[in-house]
Amino acid sequence: MSMAHMAAERSTCDRLRAGAVLVRDHRVIATGYNGAPPHMDHCDDVGHLMEEGHCIRTLHAEENTLLQAAKFGISTDDTTVYTTFSPCYHCFKKLFAAGVKRVVAMQVYRDTSVFDACQKAGVIFELYEPDPHWLEYLSTLFKELPKERIEAVKGDSDLSRLSF
Ligand SMILES: [Zn+2]
Ligand SMILES: [Zn+2]
Repeated sequence: MSMAHMAAERSTCDRLRAGAVLVRDHRVIATGYNGAPPHMDHCDDVGHLMEEGHCIRTLHAEENTLLQAAKFGISTDDTTVYTTFSPCYHCFKKLFAAGVKRVVAMQVYRDTSVFDACQKAGVIFELYEPDPHWLEYLSTLFKELPKERIEAVKGDSDLSRLSF
C-alpha cells in the first residue's frame, strides 16, 4: 500500500490523486496512477476534460496497472490489486475480467456499491489496515535519505501531498 501511495504521487489529475499496485504471488507486477495516456495532454497542464460531471482525460490507476501488464505481456490472472481508493464500477469490471481475485483499498471512494459487486463476482474486497510500526519506519527511512536526494525529489514533485 505504501507503494500505491508513492505511485499516486505521480498522478496528473488533481480531482483525485490515486495509485494502485498489482501483485501476483507476492511480487509487484505492475503499478499505476491516474493520468492521461503517455504523450497526451495532462489535466495538471491543460485542465480537465469534463463529461457528465467526470474528468475523462485520465486513465484510472487500476486501468493503468492492467494496461502496463498488457503492454509488457504479463498475465494479470490470480492477482491482488492494492489501491489508494476503492475502484469505481468501470475499473471493477476491468479488474474482474482481467482475473484480479482480491482488491485491497486504503479508503472508500464515493460509495460502497463496489463491495456488493465484488461479492457477487467472487472477488475478495478488503479495506487496508495500516500498520503503525511500518508507517513509523517509513517516515524514519525518508528522513534518513541523503540531503541531496531529498532536494532532487523536492524539485520534482510536491511532497506536501504525501498523506500516510
Ligand atoms: Zn482531470
Ligand atoms: Zn476507476
